Amino acid sequence: MSDTVYNCATCPFKPTDRICKTDSGRYPDNCPTVKAAKIQTMALDEYGREPVSTFARQASLQEKDGYANRESGYENVRPAKPRIEEIFDFIEKMGYSKIGMAFCIGLRKEAAQVEKLFASRRLEMVSVICKVGRVGKEAIGIGDHDKIAAGEFESMCNPILQAELLNEAGTEFNVLIGLCVGHDSLFFQYAKAPCTVLAVKDRVTGHNPLAAIYTLDSYYRALK
Ligand code: SF4
Repeated sequence: MSDTVYNCATCPFKPTDRICKTDSGRYPDNCPTVKAAKIQTMALDEYGREPVSTFARQASLQEKDGYANRESGYENVRPAKPRIEEIFDFIEKMGYSKIGMAFCIGLRKEAAQVEKLFASRRLEMVSVICKVGRVGKEAIGIGDHDKIAAGEFESMCNPILQAELLNEAGTEFNVLIGLCVGHDSLFFQYAKAPCTVLAVKDRVTGHNPLAAIYTLDSYYRALK
């Protein structure tokens, strides 16, 4: 384990001046571009192996396709597509035909619309709701006082079962819609196919978690 702690998120240099963007760029003492040569080589080796190689190349092409107006130069590019369209494009690029969807019961209407959109593109859909299996929360040690509706039966979110059902169905690519914090982590841990996230859950902000970050100097200052 390295004793250097990396903090790219708080790198003090302008993005265009950084060594991870430009050959003779600037960097702090704990810069992983400079310090972590061995792991960089390991990562690069991984990109050379199929199927990672194809996946990474197509993901990079998808990144490029997310911008319009490239012919006018980097300063003038514009965002081209919403995420749902990018997901469709990426699926097409990869040639996937069987898609898994793991979704939260709270976003069931959105999930139904998304499933229809996928199906209209002749994709075979397998979707599994978070409450699948109807297992009581007692199974994971949750007592009555820790339920949302204390004293009633409460079906636990079951991301491991969601993942295993999609694994069993042989989905080639999984799309997440609104799984809770932690439940999404378990889904990622158990799913065999590569996954992407269409929407993350944020009950307060209409599933836009960055709203709290954008307003950190005003309404959400108490978080600091
Ligand atoms: S890789 Fe180095 S230069 Fe780039 S953001 Fe991280 S610390 Fe800064």
